Amino acid sequence: MSTAPLRYSVAMADPAGHVFEVTLVVANPDPNRAILRLPAWIPGSYTVRDFARNIVRIAAHDDAGPVTLTKLDKDSWQAAPCTGPLTVVARVYAWDLSVRAAHLDASHAFFNGTSLFLVPDGARHLPCELVIEAPEDPACAGWKVATTLPRASGSPWGFGTFSASDYDALIDHPVEIGTWTHVRFEAEGIPHDVVITGVVRVDLGRLATDLAAICATHLRFFGKPAPFERYLFLVMAVGDGYGGLEHRSSTALLCKRTDLPAPELDEVSDAYIGFLGLCSHEYFHAWNVKRILPAVFVPYDLWQPRPTTQLWAFEGVTSYFDDLGLLRSRRITEAQWLELIGRTVTGVLRTPGRLMQTLADSSFDAWTKYYKQDENSPNALISYYTKGSLVALALDLLLQRASSGSVGLGALWRALWQRYGDGSGVPEGAIERLASELAGADLSGFFDRALRSTEDLPLADLLNDVGLTLRLRAATGSEDRGGKPAPSGSRATAVGDLGVSVGAGASGAILKHVLQGGAGHAAGLSAGDVVVALDGLRVEGSSLAARVRALPAGTEVTLHGFRRDELRTWKARLQAAPATTAWLEPNPDAPPEAVARRTRWLAGEPPL
Ligand code: ZN
Repeated sequence: MSTAPLRYSVAMADPAGHVFEVTLVVANPDPNRAILRLPAWIPGSYTVRDFARNIVRIAAHDDAGPVTLTKLDKDSWQAAPCTGPLTVVARVYAWDLSVRAAHLDASHAFFNGTSLFLVPDGARHLPCELVIEAPEDPACAGWKVATTLPRASGSPWGFGTFSASDYDALIDHPVEIGTWTHVRFEAEGIPHDVVITGVVRVDLGRLATDLAAICATHLRFFGKPAPFERYLFLVMAVGDGYGGLEHRSSTALLCKRTDLPAPELDEVSDAYIGFLGLCSHEYFHAWNVKRILPAVFVPYDLWQPRPTTQLWAFEGVTSYFDDLGLLRSRRITEAQWLELIGRTVTGVLRTPGRLMQTLADSSFDAWTKYYKQDENSPNALISYYTKGSLVALALDLLLQRASSGSVGLGALWRALWQRYGDGSGVPEGAIERLASELAGADLSGFFDRALRSTEDLPLADLLNDVGLTLRLRAATGSEDRGGKPAPSGSRATAVGDLGVSVGAGASGAILKHVLQGGAGHAAGLSAGDVVVALDGLRVEGSSLAARVRALPAGTEVTLHGFRRDELRTWKARLQAAPATTAWLEPNPDAPPEAVARRTRWLAGEPPL
């Protein structure tokens, strides 16, 4: 095969019908057996999504005329013998408002290359050229193009031609097209752009200041040179939504409008901290998973699951450093950071699945479990994000303990960056070996417990090293996310608990989850049941939780409700609400060395 580039063009053929037309010209196809494929998943979102199901029409021709395409399987086509150049034209339906696919209407266009670009077998290494055509539809007048794909023609932010060194690069630069809001800032001398799509009122100056501080913190953490020459945050602001996906020099984010800082905002809201945490997370990924990545992802097999036990290190550790980055860049206070950690501990402790699934298994089975959650998921699985971030916290403290404060998790991740930042891939087990090497101690016992057992982490003991106390109590209500002591005036007696989570339905409380071992489980309740009465009185919407909480543990209650269309009666004995709500507080009696260690750690003083 020649080295002539793969030539792609994208047209917004039918914005109202959400259809892109994508053309690929292959200069020198295999004359007898040219096979074209569309990826089945997008790196960073570990589940098979079968993007080819959105191809609504596909046809090919060469200079002599039409070339028949025969479908081989769910995402590949074989061309009949042809002479080349071979032109393939696909129409792709794009109506997925998420960060991992493509979306088109008369207000904007967004796409990931994995949703639009077929690749011929054996051609993945070829350079690519992409023409993004200006739409003819008058509704799309004034649209601009935001992407970190290198530009070959056209003015900045304009339509034109872009290039990529190979197919993997082509699909790692999402593209947003529309009439977005834009702000630019520099961090460590590197230009960063934020492009926000959607109707928003946002304090761009504040956003730029906060992001600049966070980006600079991560850039300094890994050291020069940075792995990109510019960076782009593509933000889609909607009424309700959440998501982020990392790329080599950009990220696609989905958030609520109300997560962004309004111009008159003085206080930092929880929602805005959450948004900054998301930005921090995806930015940290530019190193951790885009360049330091599991060996099984080198190269990505874009057509089937490639399980790894290491997602705790790529998602969990990133989740740890995202919020720590907010603290180290002084966007939040130590008290706010401790509250975030307390909430994460709470989330993990409230998940019975932590006693069923190990973190290594959670990583390995992400494709079919974490990404395909159902009503039983809280009983069956634990998130490699949340528990993974607690393993990161524990490992940070353990490294400091083992090395008498001379190395921490930062040193380990910089060592990984030195060794694997070239994209060669981290073999299974290598992070654990490197951690022991750096600590000068055998940490395999910790990793066996943290990754390959369901035993809870020794967090309280490790936090004690830095003068922090981990405390536990029962939840005070369904809004109680933990991270703080109970408000004064809370009941001291054991509050009743049914062990269910509830959503509001039109005619009662719909049970979303029934937790393993809880009172609801013992009574025979099931997810999907609609509870309409408690002790003969009507239950409205989500009031069930508050009604139960008003009763002491040990109370026997009668519930009426429906399973499908069948009326049922359940008798449940309320259990004591479990002490799974956590918060962290500085220990006033901690020795000065512990407090000093905490100060250095939270400031991120090298080599921590
Ligand atoms: Zn992530």
